[in-house]
Amino acid sequence: MGNEDTKVNLLDFDRAAMAAWFEARGHKPFRATQVLKWIHQLGVDDFAAMTNLSKSLRSELETVAEIRPLRVAADQASADGTRKWLFELADGNRIESVYIPEPGRATLCISSQVGCALNCSFCSTATQGYNRNLTSGEIIGQLWMASRLLRAADAQPVSNVVFMGMGEPLLNFDNVLRAMQLMQDDFAYALSKRRVTLSTAGVVPGLERLALETDVSLALSLHAPDDALRSELVPLNNKYPISEVLHACREYVGEGRRRLTVEYVMLDGVNDSDAQARALAKLLRKVPSKVNLIPFNPFPKTRYRRSSAQRIDRFRDILHQAGIVTITRRTRGEDIDAACGQLAGDFTDRTRRRERFAIEVNGDFI
Ligand code: SAH
Repeated sequence: MGNEDTKVNLLDFDRAAMAAWFEARGHKPFRATQVLKWIHQLGVDDFAAMTNLSKSLRSELETVAEIRPLRVAADQASADGTRKWLFELADGNRIESVYIPEPGRATLCISSQVGCALNCSFCSTATQGYNRNLTSGEIIGQLWMASRLLRAADAQPVSNVVFMGMGEPLLNFDNVLRAMQLMQDDFAYALSKRRVTLSTAGVVPGLERLALETDVSLALSLHAPDDALRSELVPLNNKYPISEVLHACREYVGEGRRRLTVEYVMLDGVNDSDAQARALAKLLRKVPSKVNLIPFNPFPKTRYRRSSAQRIDRFRDILHQAGIVTITRRTRGEDIDAACGQLAGDFTDRTRRRERFAIEVNGDFI
């Protein structure tokens, strides 16, 4: 008899893994697509409700498998319609996901790790330290839970997913990839490659691997036009400098088969001058991309301030004049601390950042 600890969590499986699992148990592989549909398209977590499976298969599944939900520890709605969930994982760690509805689309911003090891100086997740990677079931579980909760509220379903919550997705490559495969699977969420965006601080080996395995949209957190400043803001730059990161991004975009957005957080007096805008334009001349300017979102004890609206407009105009499509991101969900860089989650062991940074960033982690 299975119990909580030994049951497999079917949320961990993409279609290939699910088919292999059914086959290994002596069942036809098409059971995988039936079960995927029940779980991901219909949001069912009860095997008894899976009426196109035989009674004996249903009771077998009951014994050996589970569809492990995330516990909703907090559910906050912003005046602008943004919703933020604090999800509790089986081990008590907590992560955040943010739902951002707009006319014609609704984006879910999800986390890939508990905390983050990269320690970017302007990001509040960094102040929390790092605990561990999320499993693929915990990553897709955020979309699964959001879809169920939104359906219950009769709200606009998720049409886009961005990995812009807590964590560095390319430092949790395999689990992120499996979750992205489910997002794109016709038997699960059927999101097109353009509607799934992986955001990275620029882990070069991860970018190279990504090009071999998927064609989702990419967002690069650049934030500075020169290495000295970028290393101050994004310490990972010491390991993978701008030229290498942009080269890997250019390779990823290829002949325009994939999309790249460059993210640039606007920090007052730090990275927002006219000269820096011109330097950024020069840097991106040969990198097919559009630029997303993100007004800095403050958090307690930060030393940074948001650039003024005029400064952001001026910066955008310089990029426009250089022929670069530039959009200023409208800040959403600020009243519930759901805006970019404000996600903090809640977890106990925050001491592992140094250790993991050494392993994953300076070592051969990939
Ligand atoms: N590790 C990944 C994904 C998480 S960050 C990455 O670095 O891309 C998601 C986006 O929010 C990044 O562009 C990040 O730089 C930005 N961000 C972080 N802190 C912010 C803040 N305080 N204000 C505005 N944007 C912030």
